[in-house]
Amino acid sequence: MERGRLLISYAHPDDESFGLGAAIPKWIDDGIDVYLICATNGDVGAVPEELRGKYATTAELRLSELECARQHLKFKEVFMLEYRDSGMPGSETSRHPESLCYQWEHHPAGVVARVKEVFKRAQPHVVITFNRYGGYGHPDHIAIQRATAQAFEQLRKQADAGAGTGVYQPQKLYYAAFPKATIRWRILRARLKGQNPRRMGINQDVDVIKTLEHIEPVHTRIPVAKYFDVWERASSCHASQGGGRISRTSRWLRRFLYSKQGFTRVYPAPERDQVDEDDLFANIDLNAQQS
Ligand SMILES: [Zn+2]
Repeated sequence: MERGRLLISYAHPDDESFGLGAAIPKWIDDGIDVYLICATNGDVGAVPEELRGKYATTAELRLSELECARQHLKFKEVFMLEYRDSGMPGSETSRHPESLCYQWEHHPAGVVARVKEVFKRAQPHVVITFNRYGGYGHPDHIAIQRATAQAFEQLRKQADAGAGTGVYQPQKLYYAAFPKATIRWRILRARLKGQNPRRMGINQDVDVIKTLEHIEPVHTRIPVAKYFDVWERASSCHASQGGGRISRTSRWLRRFLYSKQGFTRVYPAPERDQVDEDDLFANIDLNAQQS
């Protein structure tokens, strides 16, 4: 029997730990090979001077943080696409010709081709990316979400056209979901602290109200509470981006907000918007493709 293969297609060093740091160790425990696309080097995130240390650039520092997270999350392989982080929409960094945003805007087929190359190498049965709003609206998240969804669709069509020839075909596509309760909690907490929920995060580029408005239906919930400690360790690696916050959330609140990780099933699309799975590998045929 083939092992299950899962590809997470994200944009920055830290997306994997902050977003799926409790789910990844569960898949590893389940015997799944987990692959990661990190599309940018994280060049632009603000970094406190005292954390810069020996690293000449923000990208170097953030890649070392990703290396640290890998020790905890145990990816089978990490594919770096090495685009430049685009930073905030409309900023000078987003117009840099090597930025993911610029490339997506001017050469989308090139970005899709890079993602397809990874699909062909890792041959994932299951693919996860951001939702259509890029989780909280970051333009790099939206770019990699679109490139991943297009790569998925093109490979499915190619395999359909050559049906029976053993051509690789990905079987399921998901968007990772933020739990609504968490987002509502963040809005409430921001207001209680006198902060503007439309300008949150270390770079003040997160509009939490829009994030809530763009949440998509959840079809799969997987239990992850057992892995909070791994999540905390992986997140702590990304200290320059404010990692290690989870332990500062009280235990009961953490359980209430984060015990289950939700996903939107994009392909195959469910007939109704309701939770009908607790496993991304439900109905996957592990032997359906060549490797
Ligand atoms: Zn990100």
